[in-house]
Amino acid sequence: MPISGDRFVNAGSVSIRCSFCSRNQDVVRKLIASEGDAFICDACVQVCQRILLRDRVNQVVRAFRRAAQSLFPRVRVPSRRTL
Ligand SMILES: [Zn+2]
Repeated sequence: MPISGDRFVNAGSVSIRCSFCSRNQDVVRKLIASEGDAFICDACVQVCQRILLRDRVNQVVRAFRRAAQSLFPRVRVPSRRTL
């Protein structure tokens, strides 16, 4: 059964699916309910976490390059391909 925080969602006899990938509640480990009627499964949460982490890493790399270029303007910062 899907759980949102402490809230238990009574599905009754209706089959509940992830709103992102459409997997049925029976084939996912966890199905999290929104305040509305949307659901997200554990696999989709992991995909979202990877996307957010990749964005954060890219932000840190860009900030590092800017800082390095302002501190050492004559030194070339290696591109991502060469790292
Ligand atoms: Zn999903």
